[in-house]
Amino acid sequence: MKIGIDIDGVLADFITPFLAYYNVWHGTGYSYTDITNYELWSVFGDNKEQINSKIEEYFNDADALAIRPINGSQEIIQELNERNGRSSIITSRPLIVKEKTLEWLFHNFQNAIGKVYFTEELNGDYNGKSRKSFICRKEGIEVMIEDLPTTAIDCSGTCRQVLLYDHPWNRNWKFPKNVSRVKSWNEINSLLNGNKK
Ligand SMILES: [Mg+2]
Repeated sequence: MKIGIDIDGVLADFITPFLAYYNVWHGTGYSYTDITNYELWSVFGDNKEQINSKIEEYFNDADALAIRPINGSQEIIQELNERNGRSSIITSRPLIVKEKTLEWLFHNFQNAIGKVYFTEELNGDYNGKSRKSFICRKEGIEVMIEDLPTTAIDCSGTCRQVLLYDHPWNRNWKFPKNVSRVKSWNEINSLLNGNKK
């Protein structure tokens, strides 16, 4: 079974350190539960360009290794590797943070992960570049694990199953039947074990 895994919101808790960074810079007090829309600019009242450049700035300035892996992801990724082979990583992060991202992945998951794809569709902004669903089709990914609602819907047309990692920004959406909401890496592990071919 070929598995594709998103980074931010699935493997990496990006939002917590990013909000801390944003709050210091802007004198605001946003917390995780305030982020009820994946389009951060609409939460913050910034425009899209402002927030995208803030995210790029954060990746450039901050200690990338300070971003923590999501609870349970490290152990389960190791298990998945032993049971199922290496999973592909498919991220919408921009290429300018490629080196930092690869360093972070290796630091936290060592050699338990396979190919890493950067689609550069930051914040779901396809921008004429490759979508995650294109990568899924090309690579024959059967199960994609994702947190962005629009990307989950996009990949549901290509993958047999999409596991949507639950966050405040992906609730209040309607998803196709092959999109299942998951709340932890343990739950992902059980579902994938049940799916085993
Ligand atoms: Mg994500």
